[in-house]
This record gives sequence, C-alpha cells and structure tokens, in this order.
Amino acid sequence: MEKEALIKRIRAFLKKDSPFEEESSNLLYLVRFILLMLCAYCVLMDIFIFANGVVFFGFVLLVTLVANIILLISSYSVKATHILYMLAVVSIISSGILTAGFGWRASFHTVIFVMLLAMWYNPSKAVGEKVVCSVLIAVSMCIISLKTPVGHLLFKSDSFQQTFLVYTNTLVFTACLSVVSYFFCTQYIEAERKLYLYNRELKKLSETDPLTKLPNRRYAEEELAELDKKQEALGSQITVALGDIDFFKRVNDTYGHDAGDFILSSLAELFKKYMEEFGFVVRWGGEEFLFVFDGMNGDEAMTSLDKLRRKIEKKEFIFNEQKIDITMTFGVAEYYKLYGVENTVKEADDKLYMGKTGGRNQVVF
Ligand code: GH3
Ligand code: MG
Ligand code: MG
Repeated sequence: MEKEALIKRIRAFLKKDSPFEEESSNLLYLVRFILLMLCAYCVLMDIFIFANGVVFFGFVLLVTLVANIILLISSYSVKATHILYMLAVVSIISSGILTAGFGWRASFHTVIFVMLLAMWYNPSKAVGEKVVCSVLIAVSMCIISLKTPVGHLLFKSDSFQQTFLVYTNTLVFTACLSVVSYFFCTQYIEAERKLYLYNRELKKLSETDPLTKLPNRRYAEEELAELDKKQEALGSQITVALGDIDFFKRVNDTYGHDAGDFILSSLAELFKKYMEEFGFVVRWGGEEFLFVFDGMNGDEAMTSLDKLRRKIEKKEFIFNEQKIDITMTFGVAEYYKLYGVENTVKEADDKLYMGKTGGRNQVVF
C-alpha cells in the first residue's frame, strides 16, 4: 500500500503541469521522467567511481548530478523545450569527458541517443529545428568518437569495473530509450483513439435529428443500403412505412410551436420503444417518420402499425396542462430488390396519400 502511495506521489510530482499554456504536458512529463532516471543513475555511478578512487571523473559525475537536479527543479518554472536543450548539452559534455576517461566501449556516449529521440518527441518544434539538433548531435558524436580511445584507460578491459560500466550504461540508457519510445507509442495510440472517438461522435451527430434524437434520413438511407445487401444474402423480407401526423399544422396553430415540438418528441420516444423488436424508425422530415420492418412482410407490418396507430389515438398528450389529441396515417410498401429503396419509399408515400384522402387515422397497404 505504501509503495502504491509513493508511486502516486512521484507521478503527481512528475506530472505537475507546465506554467506555459502552449507547452505539451507530455513532453514535460517525459523530460522530468528522464531527468529523474538520470539523477538516480548519476548517484549510483558516482558511488561506484568514487569507490574505485577515480576522483576527477567522480567529480565530473557529481557536477552532472547537480546540473540534472537543477534542471529537474527548473522544469517547474522554465519551458520543457529549454530544459531538454540544456540537458542535451550537459549530457554531451559529461559523456564526452567520461568517454575520454573510460573509453568508447564503456558506452557513456549512449545517453546522447536518448537526447536525440527526446528532441524528436517535442511536438511544439518544427522538423527543421529537429534536423539541426540531429546534425549537432551527430557532430558531437563524431568529435567524441575521434578524440577518445576505444578501449579502457582507467579500468582494464576484462576487469570487473569495466564490465560494470558497460552493463550499467547499456541497461540504464536502453531503459531511457525505451521510456522515450513508450511516450512516442502512447502519444500515437492516444491520438488515434481520440480521432476514432471524435469521428464516431461526428458521425452520430450527422445522423441524429436534434429535436427528437431519432436517427435522420441520412442514417435511414445508409441503413437501407445495408439491409439491401443483407436481403440479397439472406432473402429476408423488408417492409417500409411512412407515417405522417394528421392535421399537425392545426396543433401548431392552436397550441403553439412548442406544443408541436413536444408532440414530435413524445411520439419519437414512443416509436423508438415500439420499433425496438421490429427494426428501426427515423425522422424522415417535418412531421413524417419512416419505419423499417426487418424480416416482416407487408401484412405483418400493417398489423403491427395498426396497433401503434391505436396506441397513438388513445394516448393523452398533455402540454401546459392542455390535452392534445393526435392521430396518424401510415402508408406501407414491401421492398423488392428489383424495385429498389427509392421506389419502395415512393410507394409508401403514395399509400400514405391514399390514407390521407381516404379519411386519415388509418394504415394503408
Ligand atoms: P395532414 O394531415 O394532411 O398531414 O396535415 P398537416 O397539417 O399535418 O400537414 P401540413 O404538411 O400542411 O403541415 C405540416 C406541419 O408540420 C407544418 C409545419 O409547421 C409542421 N412542422 C414540421 N416540422 C416541425 C417541427 O419541427 N416542429 C413543429 N412544431 N412543427 C413542425
Ligand atoms: Mg401531416
Ligand atoms: Mg407531412
């Protein structure tokens, strides 16, 4: 439990946001994480080097440790990008001196790759600036490589001390590189996930009617195209129906537009629930709704719609303490592949018109 609390505190300490709004908080978190790792590394390496009596290089590591601690503290008031640049300079200088002392094989220079990768992670910098940094780092590497010996200087190549240096440096800097790579991966995955969620939300919004919260005509057209493909494969029957509120203009004129909106929303709720087991319903436009019965023929859909029609007729719609009576007329048409979606909806519309002229409040098939 204590360990968890400690991890939480360290995380909170590292994640404390930047005072600069335009800065990426992830970069700041990464820089602090790397700095913390490097501080721990400097302490360990310094103890080892002093213990082996190499005072000058122990002193170099001590100065590096102090510089890293100052950078870590400064990250709460200075921009992460600047901290990163300063860290790169400190790392290049100290690893250069240490490589001169312990040889190229001791792998002190590997820390420079960590700086390179971390700089490329910075989202607020342009590619041009990153390329310049890469070139400067390559130049530093060349200088260190040319001006330092390959093998041991202070420790023999097969000594325990040299082996310790190689293992520790390789392990620590590989861990640092993995941390930066992890940040790259999570940023990419996070961006992908957000994009996916935004797209899904946008698609949903573009297919939803804001008043009734029912899907709209766009959704219906896409969904019918899908059902069309499905019908071809399964040979199941699809029936569509258009429903239109009777004398809806009168409702608006008598009770007001808000009452009309209330009726549309209440009906939408009723339709949605009712159609759950049969297929789906959309707001086709104005006070017209399109019902799609998946796996039902015209007669079955007609029976079901007549039940719904009676429900509407009996339902009491109360708005501002006023009771509003509503009836609806439906036109039903079976869908056939050869006939196509458009013609089927047109036929349903014709049947609806017949219902309207034939006295309303009825289902025509
Ligand atoms: P019919 O029985 O022949 O269908 O008569 P009707 O009055 O329902 O038909 P008409 O097409 O003349 O009028 C439809 C009305 O629906 C007119 C329009 O103001 C109303 N309407 C359409 N969309 C909305 C809406 O979103 N909110 C409200 N309150 N009214 C709407
Ligand atoms: Mg109407
Ligand atoms: Mg109408």
